[in-house]
Amino acid sequence: MQLMMTLTATASIIVTIDGPAGTGKSTVASSLARRLGLEFLDTGAMYRAIAWRALEKSIDPRDAAAVAALALRSTLRFDWKVDPPELFIDGCACGESIRTPEVTAAVAIIACNLEVRRAMVRQQRAIAAAHPRLVTEGRDQGSAVFPDATVRIYLDAAPEIRARRRAEQLRAKGVNIEAEIILQSILSRDASDRARSEGPLVRPEGADVVDTGDLDVERVVDALEAIVRIRAGAMYELPAHIESAVDDGEAP
Ligand code: C5P
Repeated sequence: MQLMMTLTATASIIVTIDGPAGTGKSTVASSLARRLGLEFLDTGAMYRAIAWRALEKSIDPRDAAAVAALALRSTLRFDWKVDPPELFIDGCACGESIRTPEVTAAVAIIACNLEVRRAMVRQQRAIAAAHPRLVTEGRDQGSAVFPDATVRIYLDAAPEIRARRRAEQLRAKGVNIEAEIILQSILSRDASDRARSEGPLVRPEGADVVDTGDLDVERVVDALEAIVRIRAGAMYELPAHIESAVDDGEAP
């Protein structure tokens, strides 16, 4: 008999999912959140929104002081009524504008900006305080932002596999870019994500590692759900009829 258990509805739980670009973090994190009845936070979107705004205002992403000032005066707000939550910056819906190659190139630079990172981390912690049942994904969530999270997961995959997946995703949107060019972009983003001094991409100590290379999305989400069930075991509750049978001393 398969026992269906649900997460206790009132318990606070933070699940962090980190990993390099192209491991499918956003897709699996939002699907995991849906399965578990948790909320979902895409922290990459926050950095992208700042980069997008900088480009819109003709601010050079390398101008650290100007980008930091922009990050400090911008209001980032998620609309939690839609799934996945939609991000607004200063009242403008970000939508797909934050996913262009120009923004991707700029975000790699602004993600190394110390003041920007501190502003984002402050906002991420405030969001978690207001939404304490959260799956949050990024680069530094389990290592720096929520080191005490109930469950910390690190997703990985070989760069060639990540590049191939990206190429397929782009092709599905009608954009044809050679896998080799995407591979170079992924390798350079990996290097800059790993090298920065504040909030670098690292495998958080003690995190559960899942290699997504040979797994499709559903299998990855299955693996993540299994990890949450093990790590957050005490937060699961049995269905009422089984709970009462156990209370009565009967085997379920
Ligand atoms: O995950 P995504 O590709 O949307 O992230 C965009 C960029 O934001 C990444 O290249 C990474 O450098 C940066 N980022 C970060 N810290 C996070 C999330 C994303 O530095 N927590």
